[in-house]
Amino acid sequence: MENKNIWNKYSEEEEKELVQLNERYKSFLDHGKTERECVTEAVAMAEARGYRDLDGIVMRGEKLSAGDKVYAVNMKKSIALFVIGSRPLADGMNILGAHIDSPRLDIKQNPLFEDTDFAYLDTHYYGGIKKYQWVASPLALHGVVVKKDGTVVNVSIGEDESDPVFCITDLLIHLAGEQMSKKASVVIEGEDLNLLVGSRPLKKTEGEGEKKEKELVKAQVLSILKEKYGMEEEDFLSAELEVVPAGKARDCGLDRSMILAYGQDDRICAYTSLAAILDTEKAEKTSCCLLVDKEEIGSVGATGMTSRFFENTVAELLQCVGQYCELTLRRCLAHSRMLSSDVSAGYDPTYASVFEKKNAAYLGRGMSFNKFTGSRGKSGSNDANAEYIAALRRIFDEAGVAFQTAELGKVDVGGGGTIAYILAEYGMEVIDSGLPVLNMHAMYELSSKADVYEAVRGYKAFLQKA
Ligand code: MN
Ligand code: MN
Repeated sequence: MENKNIWNKYSEEEEKELVQLNERYKSFLDHGKTERECVTEAVAMAEARGYRDLDGIVMRGEKLSAGDKVYAVNMKKSIALFVIGSRPLADGMNILGAHIDSPRLDIKQNPLFEDTDFAYLDTHYYGGIKKYQWVASPLALHGVVVKKDGTVVNVSIGEDESDPVFCITDLLIHLAGEQMSKKASVVIEGEDLNLLVGSRPLKKTEGEGEKKEKELVKAQVLSILKEKYGMEEEDFLSAELEVVPAGKARDCGLDRSMILAYGQDDRICAYTSLAAILDTEKAEKTSCCLLVDKEEIGSVGATGMTSRFFENTVAELLQCVGQYCELTLRRCLAHSRMLSSDVSAGYDPTYASVFEKKNAAYLGRGMSFNKFTGSRGKSGSNDANAEYIAALRRIFDEAGVAFQTAELGKVDVGGGGTIAYILAEYGMEVIDSGLPVLNMHAMYELSSKADVYEAVRGYKAFLQKA
């Protein structure tokens, strides 16, 4: 079985759509560099398409019926969107799931310090990163500072061309003899990921005491934070600030066939799933798109997939359509079908030795289905049923959507997990699907525009036909 490169199957009209879709995707990446920003974007896009906030509907005791479109936000970091179908919810939903958190550096709770006339913010990395990739590159700071009175201050520094950026310094090659002989995992150590934020001392004003003589660079940084954001040093305690690569998603290649950008794991699946449900006006089964946080650290916490948020939201939905009881909720979840989408390791000829060529995902060959993820003896895997895969083959073949099947690397080499197994616990049919990327978890990940286009078509077909 050989899957073909899909680029040359498109008509002129389709190519135009493909380009426009990818422009919208790049804009989503530029505006959604954190899970919070992705939720804000998703809400704005959904409201523009007539979606309403489920919380408000529940509070006002309103009813919902077929064709209604609603969304529910969980702690500003994850979101579920629904289009109510014409069939009862007990028949199950067609669910598209993806995650919107990405590997990054988080600012610690007590981060600010000065050393030798430099001011730094101490960081703690989030998710699996090669730490050495994060040095000597322009970085931006995104997130929120929540003050003691509850005021939320949004922070985004480093994206506008007039903004300053930040960086983590690296050792010059001339003096790096010892560093260069180290293992890559310790070339740059976690505690050395210090974000450089200033080097200019505060001007001493008259009448200020001895104490102020010390750490004037840090004092200058604090005075800027006070002036710009009204924040004190203590406010870092209740802040969520994320350090991410500065700058926009870019076309890659002379032929502009690829996208090089931060955070495509897993916003490439999140965006395409979202685009598909926003294009779905009605379907027999209720459509759902679930975009969650914390996948990169094990789907933990109130905003991760293991939280009850999704189940609770479905219960509220059932109540709003007048179908709620505990048994209906269980039936609805058990009868659902899901594409749990996350990026797959795209075959990279430069690193051919870690792939098994017949069972690898290739850029430009469409959506990728992983019967199982996990590692080695399929540990930690969700293993999709053959019957379900057969049904999906029918759907995608009928819709003319290109797809491939893949495993994440050679059997003994490594592996990875997704959110699939968590939803599978309800007894629903779930398969790991998604798009291949190269450079996964690096500061800039690489994807194919054709795959983005194919995914939206595939997800739309799934919502209609599964
Ligand atoms: Mn992922
Ligand atoms: Mn990941």
